[in-house]
Amino acid sequence: MVPRENGGIAGTSLRRNMSRTIGVTTAEGIATGLVEGEELVGKLRMHEEEPGAEPLFSTPPAGIAQRLAQEIAAVAAGSPVDAIGIGMPGIIQDCFIEESPNLRQLKGVNMRDLVVEALRDYRITAPVYVYNDANVLAAGLAATRGILDRFIRVWTLGHGIGFGVYPPRPGIWEGGHIVVSLDPRERYCGCGGVGHLEGIMGYRAMRLRFLDMEPDEIFDNARKRDPRCVEFVKLWHRALAAATATSIHQAGPGKFFISGFNAKHLDLNLLHQYLSEMVKMSPLQSYVLEVVPSSDEDAVIGAAVSAAQSVSAA
Ligand SMILES: [Zn+2]
Repeated sequence: MVPRENGGIAGTSLRRNMSRTIGVTTAEGIATGLVEGEELVGKLRMHEEEPGAEPLFSTPPAGIAQRLAQEIAAVAAGSPVDAIGIGMPGIIQDCFIEESPNLRQLKGVNMRDLVVEALRDYRITAPVYVYNDANVLAAGLAATRGILDRFIRVWTLGHGIGFGVYPPRPGIWEGGHIVVSLDPRERYCGCGGVGHLEGIMGYRAMRLRFLDMEPDEIFDNARKRDPRCVEFVKLWHRALAAATATSIHQAGPGKFFISGFNAKHLDLNLLHQYLSEMVKMSPLQSYVLEVVPSSDEDAVIGAAVSAAQSVSAA
């Protein structure tokens, strides 16, 4: 047996066993990074759109795959990698995109096949995995905080409302579309469903509700005691409390992270107050809420760590 504390040999073999994976996220543009074990090597590569280039939401699926392959090849820089993990928006089962309200052209597309095909031009043959982007963020938060052995959940408050879980569990987990209102007038969700969390909290939904002000102004005006905005900000917090309470009643208490560019509007005390009114069974009250800054780095690490786990499970 090699004495581990005596340096060289064990250290070298540990390093050789550590996976080299590439993580990609498409949340706000394309961010790509090389990850060894659970750590980012070097800097994140951010895809810079050439002036006049087609934006991602109007690019056909094969074009998106080509752009992803280009970024992956640039980060691999000719060195072999063990696996590639990509986070994308939508309902994704086994790398197949069943639904993607924000990149509608991807519905029904097997993204893995397209990226594998596009990577052939770069002679990259590592296995490719595609995951829901909120799930990769959950994996990244667990990895960077050293809690890969725990069950965690994350809300992302952005244009839509994402919900990610780690470790991956069978099921759909579209927490952003949890029904939090029985009012038939609540119909602002991007998916078209009535009464959904995203229909209250989503950026686009807030713009539709308040045609005369931007979401940031709604929160500003609530601080200035504009009655309509004050009422809405309460509803916004109650909606997140309701969806969180629903998740607690189904999957149990535990850690909830809250991220995304609109998390800046969150009043954690108010959320706690509403949640305590909604969760009354004592075994369920040990939940923890934590607001974390939006980080492409966490998501890229999560995509890479998920890919490494998929490889070892295969
Ligand atoms: Zn919905």
